[in-house]
Amino acid sequence: MSLPVLTHCPYCSLQCGMTVAARAEDDGGGWEVEGANFPTNRGGLCEKGRSSAELLAHPDRLTTPLVRDSRREPFREATWDEALDRVATALRDTQQRYGADAAGLFGGGGMTNEKAYQAGKFVRVALRSASIDYNGRFCMSSAAAAATKAFGVDRGMPFPLADIARADTVLLVGSNPGDTMPPAMRWFAAGRERGATHLVVDPRYTASAAAADVHLQPVPGTDLALANGLLHLAIKHRLVDTAYVAERTTGWDAVRRAMRQYWPDRVERITGVPVRVMERAVRLLAESRATMILSGRGAEQHAHGSDTALAWINLALALGLPGRPYSGWATMTGQGNGQGGREHGQKADQLPGYRMLADPAARAHVAAVWGVDPDELPRPGVSAYEMLDRLGTDGGVRALMVMASNVVVSAPRADHVRERLGALDLLVVSDLFLSETAALADVVLPCTQWAEEEGTMTNVEGRVLRRRRAVEAPDGVRSDLDVLADLAGRLGRGQYFSADPQTVFDELRRASAGGKADYAGISWARIEAERGVFWPCPDEDHPGTPRMFRGAGEGAERSSTRGYFATPDGRARFHVVHHREPAETPDGEYPYRLTTGRSRAHYQSGTQTRRTKALLDAEPEPVVEIHPDLAARLGVADGADVLLRSRRGRARMRARLASTIRADTVFAPFHWAGEQTINALTNPALDPASRMPEFKVCAVDITAAPAGEDTTA
Ligand code: SF4
Repeated sequence: MSLPVLTHCPYCSLQCGMTVAARAEDDGGGWEVEGANFPTNRGGLCEKGRSSAELLAHPDRLTTPLVRDSRREPFREATWDEALDRVATALRDTQQRYGADAAGLFGGGGMTNEKAYQAGKFVRVALRSASIDYNGRFCMSSAAAAATKAFGVDRGMPFPLADIARADTVLLVGSNPGDTMPPAMRWFAAGRERGATHLVVDPRYTASAAAADVHLQPVPGTDLALANGLLHLAIKHRLVDTAYVAERTTGWDAVRRAMRQYWPDRVERITGVPVRVMERAVRLLAESRATMILSGRGAEQHAHGSDTALAWINLALALGLPGRPYSGWATMTGQGNGQGGREHGQKADQLPGYRMLADPAARAHVAAVWGVDPDELPRPGVSAYEMLDRLGTDGGVRALMVMASNVVVSAPRADHVRERLGALDLLVVSDLFLSETAALADVVLPCTQWAEEEGTMTNVEGRVLRRRRAVEAPDGVRSDLDVLADLAGRLGRGQYFSADPQTVFDELRRASAGGKADYAGISWARIEAERGVFWPCPDEDHPGTPRMFRGAGEGAERSSTRGYFATPDGRARFHVVHHREPAETPDGEYPYRLTTGRSRAHYQSGTQTRRTKALLDAEPEPVVEIHPDLAARLGVADGADVLLRSRRGRARMRARLASTIRADTVFAPFHWAGEQTINALTNPALDPASRMPEFKVCAVDITAAPAGEDTTA
C-alpha cells in the first residue's frame, strides 16, 4: 500500500480532506494525519481531526466478536461464525414468534453511503421488516422536513461552502461552526475581510457569535417567533422582493397576513431580543447584494423544529434569496455522513435516492433494482425515538441490531432508553470500542473504522467524496457492509447482497436514478478525478450540481424542468407557521431552561473522542455553563459540582460560570456517559413532521451537589 493516502476525517460533516501516513519507527511508529488541500478545508483540520490517528492503534480497540448467554454474565470471545449464527438464529426465531417487524436495525449518520444503503436494503429485503431508523433523526430531520416542504428537495447546503466567502451578509441561526467545525471558519473570515457583515442567533455567546458583528440572544425555543418578527419588519419596511415572490413562489398572501400577529413589541416579549436589534438585523439581511441564512441544530432540535426551519425559509424567500448567487437558505449538517446517510434508505419512511416507501412508483423502481417483488417491501416504520421507546413491548422491536450509534448516551431520556434496551430478547451492537450501548449487548461485533475502509461519504455541501483505505484493519475486524451481506446469506437472502463497496455503490446509483438525490452519474472514478461530485447528477455527462435552484437562463444547474425548485410546479412554497411554547417550560419545581449541544474537543456520544488523549487533555470532563447571577442565587462557585434534575433524570457535572449565557438558561454538552449523561434529562417530545426530539430545551432544577457521592443514582 503506498502512503500517504488521501482520505477524509472520521468526524463531522465538513469531511476535511486529510492524508494518513505511517510514522517512522524512530519517531514512535503508528500513524499520523495531515490536513490536505481539499476544497472545503484547504489544509485545515481541527483538534479532533488532527488527533484522529490515535484511533488507529488504540489499545481499547475490539478485534474479536464478544457474546454472552445472559446479561448477568461477562462477555466471552467468540468466532465470527458463532457470533453471526447466533444473531441470524435469534433474528429468525424472534420474527417467527412476534412477526417480521420485531427484528430491526438502528443505524448512524457516520456510516458510508454504501453501508447506509446496505442497512436499508438488509432490513427490507433480508428481514422484510419495517423496523429501521437511525441517529440522524436526532440531528437533521427537522431541517430536512422543512426543505422538502418548501423546495421539494432536501440538500442541506444547496451551494458550496466556499460561497460563504462571497456573501455580503450571513445570518447563522443556532449553529456554532466556530467550535464544531473550525476549518469552515476560513470562509466566514474571508467574507469578513471583504467587508461582509455576520449575525448570529444563539442563546449563548459562542465562538461564532464572538466572530460576528451582531449577536441576537433569544430565549431557547423562540427562534420561530424571531424569524416571524423579522419578516413582519421586512413587510412593514417594504423590504420584500415582490418580483421574486411573484415569479418563484406560492403561498405568500397567507404568510403575509399571518405576520400581522408578530408586531415587534410582542416578539421582543417572547424572544427577549430588543426591537432595535431586530430592526438592524432585518435591514442588514434585506439591503445587501447577497445574503445567506444558515440554520443549525439550535433552531431545529425542538418539538416544533420543522416549523422553525420553515419560518427562516419564509424569511429567505420573502427577501428573494434562494437561487440567487451567493445567497439562500441552508442548514449545516452535523454528522460525518449526515447528508448521504439520510438519502439512501436508512430512514423508516424512505428508499434510496430520497424516494418514499409509501409511493408505489418508488417501490416499483427500487424493487426492480433489488430484484424483488414490490409487494414484498414493508410499509414505513416508526422513527428513531419511537422505535427505542417501544423496544421489548407488544408490537415493538424484540431483536435489535445497532450500528454506528451509542444510543444510551445520544438519545433523549437516556435512562429510559437504557431500560428499554434491557427488555430486548437480543441486542447486537457493532462498534470499534465497547461503547456504553455495546456494554449492554448480547453480541458485540468489532467493525472497521474510517481509514481502514473504502466507500463514499456526502459532505455538508452535498458533495460526494471518496473514503479511502490507508491502513489495513486489524485481524478479526470486519466491515458492517460485509457483516450485513454475510447475515443476509445466513437468513437465506444472500443472493441479493454484495460485500464489495464499489459494487454496492454502483447498485445505489441505479436505485437512486431518477430520485431527488440522484447519484446515477457519480462513479468512484469521477469522484477521484473531480475531487468530489455534487448531487443531483443524473448521468455521466452531467457536471453535477454545486448550486441548486438557479432556474432556466442562469446556467444548466436546474433542479426541476418546470421552474426553479424541485416542487411539482417548480415554485418554492411559503408555509404559515406560528410560535408555540416549548413542550416543557420552567415552573416552580424546575425553574430553569437547559439547552444542550456539542463542545469543541468532543464529538457525538464521545465513543471515539473520550478515548483520544489529546482531546481528553484539552477537555477532560463536561462542564455546565451557568451565568454568574444565577450561580450566585444558587450558591454555586466556579468549578463546583452541581446536580441537574429534570422530570426524566439527573446528571452531575462541574459548573463553569459564564456571563456569555442568558441568566435563565444553562448549557451542557452531550458527549459524556455515566452520571454525566445530560441526555438523561432531555425531553423526547417529538416534532409532528420530522419526529425530532426536543433536545434543545427542557425545564430543570439545579443545586450544588454534595461532595463525593454519586447523587444521580
Ligand atoms: Fe474533522 Fe470536522 Fe474537524 Fe474537519 S472540522 S477536522 S471534518 S471534525
